Amino acid sequence: MTSARDPDVVVIGAGPAGATAACTLAARGHRVLLVDRASFPRAKVCGCCLASSGQAVLRSLGLGDLVDDGVPLDTTVVHGAGRSTTLPFPGSVTLSRERLDPALIDAARRRGVEFLPRTRAIVTDRDEVELRPLDATTGVPAPHLRPKAIVVADGLGGRALDDRPAFRWRIAGRNRFGVGTVVEDVQDAPRRGELLMLTDRAGYLGVATLEDGRVDLAAALHPERTRIGGGPAATCARILGEARLPGLATAAAAAKWRGTPSLTRTRRCVAAGRVCCIGDAGGYVEPFTGEGMSWGMEAGVAVAPFVEAAIGGGDARAWNRAHAQLLSARRRRCRTVAFAIRHPRAAMPVMRLLGRLPRIGRRLAGVASGQSRPPADAGALG
Ligand SMILES: Cc1cc2nc3c(=O)[nH]c(=O)nc-3n(C[C@H](O)[C@H](O)[C@H](O)COP(=O)(O)OP(=O)(O)OC[C@H]3O[C@@H](n4cnc5c(N)ncnc54)[C@H](O)[C@@H]3O)c2cc1C
Repeated sequence: MTSARDPDVVVIGAGPAGATAACTLAARGHRVLLVDRASFPRAKVCGCCLASSGQAVLRSLGLGDLVDDGVPLDTTVVHGAGRSTTLPFPGSVTLSRERLDPALIDAARRRGVEFLPRTRAIVTDRDEVELRPLDATTGVPAPHLRPKAIVVADGLGGRALDDRPAFRWRIAGRNRFGVGTVVEDVQDAPRRGELLMLTDRAGYLGVATLEDGRVDLAAALHPERTRIGGGPAATCARILGEARLPGLATAAAAAKWRGTPSLTRTRRCVAAGRVCCIGDAGGYVEPFTGEGMSWGMEAGVAVAPFVEAAIGGGDARAWNRAHAQLLSARRRRCRTVAFAIRHPRAAMPVMRLLGRLPRIGRRLAGVASGQSRPPADAGALG
């Protein structure tokens, strides 16, 4: 039974998906506890390009200033198979995760959400949430909560649902893994507003300058080719060197890279009983189109009525279908773009042609980056 001290909802994971869900549910009058095993700001493997749909969610939460702090992207330069081409790439902004994630958590707290950092949460087979503070004295029993609803937003390869076979991960074969780092003071950093996309047999690497001048590097790599190439740092340094970016190559070789588990994965289901999964915790596809944060934030808003069904004593199962409707077309598009990028020899001539047809190129680049329409001022490009 739920006790008076239990929150209505526990949200596990305070990345963009979880923090947005916490904001949304608190604004709708629910008592929300947001838990994360990390303390913030924290490093995260991410290309840091925020698509227009994610920007719209931030503005709807009153965080328009945050979007305005980002660097608007206008161009992508794609290198592959020894060639490069420049395409218009309007609509996204780059924004560091050190800036975005804490701002979203602050917005949730302003709406009355209680935030518990440095605490690992686990969903038990009885729909309880076990909280394991990372700084706890050994021997002290972990507190258990029994909220009316649980939102799991613990990210790619999250393990909060490991005790629940109904939510088991299905991991695609021929999978890539992610790596990322942020470097400073490099001479050949991309111009602010330009996204470099370097494609290679080992994978692809995105490079963009952040709002604070640092340079974000994020890659999806083939495990075996990366191992043969000497690991993520050596592989990314080689890709940068071959694109004639010696300063970035040197910085990449010396940098400390973070990694992720295999990228492309789904769950057997994303909702059952009083539990709903959102963001990467609900499944993931390769990141080339740079929309994972936006998908997570949109799901954080869209999940609210399904969580409320559980709060009201019902079942959140209908989220399975709503989640598929929200994301399946976008994931297909993301897979198509990723497929093209896996075959740079075939894709590059098409991209070069698009570079010569700016109106079509702009439209397709907008679609690839998750815009349904080019922004009003996109006509100024090309
Ligand atoms: C190489 C690469 C490049 C990418 N580039 C982009 C891009 O340019 N644009 C874009 O939009 N997306 C990009 N993405 C995807 C993006 O990073 C993710 O989709 C996004 O971070 C998902 O947000 P989330 O809130 O679901 O999860 P996360 O941001 O991963 O947050 C999950 C949180 O849960 C916490 N957690 C985990 N387990 C527990 C637990 N048991 N208890 C408590 N807390 C827990 C973690 O500490 C973490 O803070 C990229 C991804 C990769 C791998």
